[in-house]
Amino acid sequence: MNVILLGPPGCGKGTQAARLKAKYGLIPLSTGDMLRAAVAAGTEVGKKAKAIMEAGQLVPDDVVVGVIADRIAEPDVRQAGFVLDGFPRTVAQAKALDDMMEKRGWKLDRIIEMKVDEQALFARIDNRVRQTAAAGGAVRPDDNPDVLKKRIAVYREQTQPILPYYAALGRLKSLDGMAAVDDVTRQLEAIVNGR
Ligand code: ADP
Repeated sequence: MNVILLGPPGCGKGTQAARLKAKYGLIPLSTGDMLRAAVAAGTEVGKKAKAIMEAGQLVPDDVVVGVIADRIAEPDVRQAGFVLDGFPRTVAQAKALDDMMEKRGWKLDRIIEMKVDEQALFARIDNRVRQTAAAGGAVRPDDNPDVLKKRIAVYREQTQPILPYYAALGRLKSLDGMAAVDDVTRQLEAIVNGR
């Protein structure tokens, strides 16, 4: 089973991807996490991505598509299936993903939009910052109100057009991401189980 979770920054994709892993064994593929790891490791990809991410902009499509194409080709992903979180983020990435899947004879089983109220995103990121800091973790440099505003604007302009792209293919399912975390999980499982 292959799943895509779509939705704005802070809508809860990472949390729900982890739950899909626990329940169905799907491997979460978060381009944000992969890029942060590349930045921390100082790889070529990381060098290209660092300043762009800190400004809340999108890393170029070819870079991100390359990262995903490499990871998707690994045997654990093929066996277990995946849940994409943070990719695709542009229509060009969605098309590149379609090509990748077609080439391998795979399909996208579920494409799921998590709908949330934009105002709630600020409160959620604020929470994430507080919890991370309280736990002694490193707060993401792009988790602050100014960059978040930019990330939401970028989501609206560049990522939201993916929704009509998948809707036109008759592939898009939506859930209410404003519900409590466990309720979101229940909605998600219902979609994954095809109910
Ligand atoms: P968010 O919490 O905003 O959803 P992510 O962890 O998914 O954040 O991504 C953080 C940053 O990494 C983005 O703002 C962007 O700069 C970069 N990034 C992640 N995924 C992609 C992608 N698919 N295409 C381009 N840039 C990406």
